[in-house]
Amino acid sequence: MTDAEEVRQRALASFLGLALGDALGATTEFMMPGEIKAQYKVHRKIIGGGWLYLKPGHVTDDTEMSLALSKALLLAGGWDLKTAADCFADWLRSKPIDVGASCRKGIRKYMLEGVMQVPPNEWDAGNGAVMRMLPAAIFSLGSQELLDRSVVEQAHLTHNHPLSDAACKTVGKMVHRALLGADRHRLHEETRDLTSEHPKFRFNKYDGQAGGYVVETLRTVFHYLFSTNSFEDCLVGVVNQGGDADTTGAIAGMIAGAHYGMGGLPKAWLKKLHPPVRREIEDAAPRLLQLSPWWAENG
Ligand code: MN
Ligand code: MN
Repeated sequence: MTDAEEVRQRALASFLGLALGDALGATTEFMMPGEIKAQYKVHRKIIGGGWLYLKPGHVTDDTEMSLALSKALLLAGGWDLKTAADCFADWLRSKPIDVGASCRKGIRKYMLEGVMQVPPNEWDAGNGAVMRMLPAAIFSLGSQELLDRSVVEQAHLTHNHPLSDAACKTVGKMVHRALLGADRHRLHEETRDLTSEHPKFRFNKYDGQAGGYVVETLRTVFHYLFSTNSFEDCLVGVVNQGGDADTTGAIAGMIAGAHYGMGGLPKAWLKKLHPPVRREIEDAAPRLLQLSPWWAENG
């Protein structure tokens, strides 16, 4: 495989990984680990259900907002904040199955007042900006400046908080590195940069909290990413922690998907993924990569 072909496969695995994590985790969203154990022993199949009564293989707002951001990047041929806001607004108008409170509030503020940056808010440290940022990471491959600007601007449409911003940038840098084939030590370096600036994200003494607070979300993702050796084990670990399981699943899925590549994605899970979602991702991922500075030099 050429370099470019390998990176293209990793970008696809990352986006599919996000959707798989969302579809798998939706079943256990808002459950406690003990409840999950009592019901499933270990939850490791894409069976739908959960509080949203999903059909098996269907996805939630995490994947849908990622696809909306992807659409914006492909429409504009690069980063344009207003196009991103319009695509989020279109998505909200489509009456999605689930919408986080900060997301709804921020998008409505754009629709009503044209505001493209919500004011700083201590309640905006949720994970809603991180769960949807993957397309910005793929299209900016090769430029950290482009990554930082696009992930933070898309975040501020709905979430304006230093911990959310830091999380978006770190996950983006981890995806960049993983797309280019970095080993886990180099992925771990990015977490150390984050925890030296924001010690709250330290995960060496993981306490099992896996809620929607972005600190809990990333600690859960990092704990399982660095204590397992496969995409499947990482994702199974994350979603059996319950809490915001579709979102921890989506974020773990994007990093682990880029890291382990297409060969790491369980075939049985891919077979279950809602075919229109799979097709949309298969179409979008390579086109996002083709927009990137990395592709301009290496593609
Ligand atoms: Mn969701
Ligand atoms: Mn969620």
